[in-house]
Amino acid sequence: MKAFGFTTATLHSDRAKPVEHGAIHKPIHNSAAFGFADVGDLVRVFQGEQAGFVYGRQGTPTTAALEEKITRMEGGIATATFGSGMGAISSTLLALLRAGDHFIASSFLFGNTTSLFETFAQMGVAVSFVDATDTAQVEAAIRPETRLVFVETIANPCTQVADLAGIGQLCEARGLVYIVDNTITSPYLFQPQSVGASLVINSLTKYIGGHGNALGGAVTETGRFDWSRYPNLYDYYKKGNPATWGITQIRKKGLRDAGATLGPEAAHHLAVGSETLALRMERICANAQRLAEFLDAHPGVSRVYYPGLAEHPQYERAKTLFKGNSGILSFELVDGRDCLDLFRKFRVVISSTNLGDNRTLAIPVAQTIYFELGQARRAELGIAESLIRVSVGIEDGDDLIADFSAALEA
Ligand SMILES: *Cc1c(COP(=O)(O)O)cnc(C)c1O
Repeated sequence: MKAFGFTTATLHSDRAKPVEHGAIHKPIHNSAAFGFADVGDLVRVFQGEQAGFVYGRQGTPTTAALEEKITRMEGGIATATFGSGMGAISSTLLALLRAGDHFIASSFLFGNTTSLFETFAQMGVAVSFVDATDTAQVEAAIRPETRLVFVETIANPCTQVADLAGIGQLCEARGLVYIVDNTITSPYLFQPQSVGASLVINSLTKYIGGHGNALGGAVTETGRFDWSRYPNLYDYYKKGNPATWGITQIRKKGLRDAGATLGPEAAHHLAVGSETLALRMERICANAQRLAEFLDAHPGVSRVYYPGLAEHPQYERAKTLFKGNSGILSFELVDGRDCLDLFRKFRVVISSTNLGDNRTLAIPVAQTIYFELGQARRAELGIAESLIRVSVGIEDGDDLIADFSAALEA
């Protein structure tokens, strides 16, 4: 039988197994613990011999239903959800790394991820930050104790596109775990398993949830990595197919020990939001492309960062890898213009952090998310003082263009 398409599979994944009382949505299970008629079943679930739920910190039927949806979206084999994207990233690395290990990360990462990795460095896990648009730089950073490589698809705010396929080949050749944070592209525009990723991270708060009304995170095992060659796994998680040992340790140890659990109510919001991911991304990509072209031609704008513009350094790469370029774009104003002024004139665009909401959000980067770094470090990173990041939403395109046009009027 032909496999269902992306949206059909997402919509109907709950019903692949019987749902209580025929409910169309997987119900919200609030129970903190789960009881067993036979204590033998309780023991077998604890020992990993049998599937089941014991305590809500390690998951509920509601989070399991969302995990099944994300596994299908990513074309993976298993998913664990967390209370936020940062919960997913921190729990995953806590579960996989030990003091003395080394890992390689892109130097263009979500700011809190960079901050977390710096904390790991203070605790005896070394990290090298490299320009991941260039696989040679990743390769040059590999050491005997390197365990994994961590990159994002399209970086925020300046939209660098990592050499996702090249790094995938490198990780495969060198036996390294390859972790791709797919938040900005979402599984509708790109499946990292297609370039050999071992684990895929998604902040569900962003495009997958889509409505800015719940926080969540996920890590998906693609089935592409043979965990029997990975040193840091505990024997009791090495059961069954070696392709699943990593996610087993991430769930059993990472999620359990860190306690970054996704609550059932949030899981339900995120599952409902995920149903329209494809529809929203189509509209977001179309709006973002149109806005990028409008800004690029505007005399008040000196530079636009968007992978859908031919002048973008990774334009061709993005075209080959992604079904669309998503909704993150940034731009700089011509010299002398106060970027905060612009924000005061917006009627549609909301001055806000966050991204992946249905509503268009914009933020002055240097004054907010990169404020702590100071001007000198910002200059090193190529963050202009007038840089504005936009997370394009699903509004009517004409309204968005009109809002930017009016705000940019001198
Ligand atoms: C937002 C974001 C995260 C963190 O997700 P939260 O749900 O906010 O914790 C991680 N990676 C990327 C690329 C993000 O944009």
